[in-house]
Amino acid sequence: MKPLNGLTKELLCYLNKAMHLPQPGDYIDIHVHGGTPAAGIFILESLMAHEEKLPHDASGVSYTYGIHPWFLNEANHNQLIISVENSVNQPGIIAIGEAGFDRIRGPSIELQRLAFEEQIIISEETRKPVVIHCVRAWDELLSVQKRRKPKMPWLVHGFRGNVELASQLLSKGMYLSFWFDFILRPESRDLLRHLPVNRIFLETDGAEANIRTIYDKVAADLNLSVADLKSVILKNFNAFFGLPAPFI
Ligand SMILES: [Zn+2]
Repeated sequence: MKPLNGLTKELLCYLNKAMHLPQPGDYIDIHVHGGTPAAGIFILESLMAHEEKLPHDASGVSYTYGIHPWFLNEANHNQLIISVENSVNQPGIIAIGEAGFDRIRGPSIELQRLAFEEQIIISEETRKPVVIHCVRAWDELLSVQKRRKPKMPWLVHGFRGNVELASQLLSKGMYLSFWFDFILRPESRDLLRHLPVNRIFLETDGAEANIRTIYDKVAADLNLSVADLKSVILKNFNAFFGLPAPFI
């Protein structure tokens, strides 16, 4: 089956039939841990390889699967990579991640780089995009991007940096989703207004934040109605996953 610039047609059919894709009018929460979908809210739940959790067949939710750098070590590295390889084609898993780098918490940067590049290879082979965790390691992230020249898009989640850093990541084709606490602050308005709206996502990261409150704040910052912001983010979702837009 010819891939549709991303997900295969078979997976696409499965996802849409089972409502594993956001529907028009949904709030999209692009990064969640352990959430339960609620009416009108579509979530992308991040499953972490070390937990060995598998997707549920529930509507309103799809999954990413990957190795979070916090939980990687020399002893579990091989086993976690095998787990990603074995799980990534499970129905409902539409992206790799969260994967990436953390200079504050986690193993040596060399081991993080190895595991990240292995996951990038899996992403390219399976044509699934990547959700990225990156803390104080932008040089590492950008150097892997330069070396691997991935065809699949990358989404940096939990972003809370400045306009310069955001522009640098966007210039490499990446998408950004913002740290919920940062995006709710008044000072994030300037950053939002400097970014192209076709590259942004919003998330709660599974914290106590309410995705509706986040949409309200961002819509006001961008002088958009919440309904317009929802359709912007749905378009971004379709673009990120290589789905035909509008997808019905
Ligand atoms: Zn997370």
